[in-house]
Amino acid sequence: MARTPKYSVASMQPVGRYALGVTWADKHDSILPLDNLRRRCPCVECERSRAVDRQPADSAARLEGVQRLQEASVMLHWADGHETLFLVEELRELCGCAACKGEPDYPITGQ
Ligand SMILES: [Zn+2]
Ligand SMILES: [Zn+2]
Repeated sequence: MARTPKYSVASMQPVGRYALGVTWADKHDSILPLDNLRRRCPCVECERSRAVDRQPADSAARLEGVQRLQEASVMLHWADGHETLFLVEELRELCGCAACKGEPDYPITGQ
């Protein structure tokens, strides 16, 4: 039933107070700002508060803990009690580095 995710997380650690660092099994590193992660929370509750343009509390972008759920997803526990479930592939898509933004430092040869 469990399909193999395209990406897998090797380790995760806080980067300062405002970002989560993810080291991927393919040696890639991502630094994901917490407020960005919280804004991307895919749950219904967050979608609704975004729709009414409600500003989240400060504690909404503070992380209390991170938990890996099997290989395919990650649960973020926020200081305001909210929880966000991301697929690891979604986390990877949030990586804002040059390589992930389509600016590879080597040309793609198509092979
Ligand atoms: Zn949410
Ligand atoms: Zn990246």
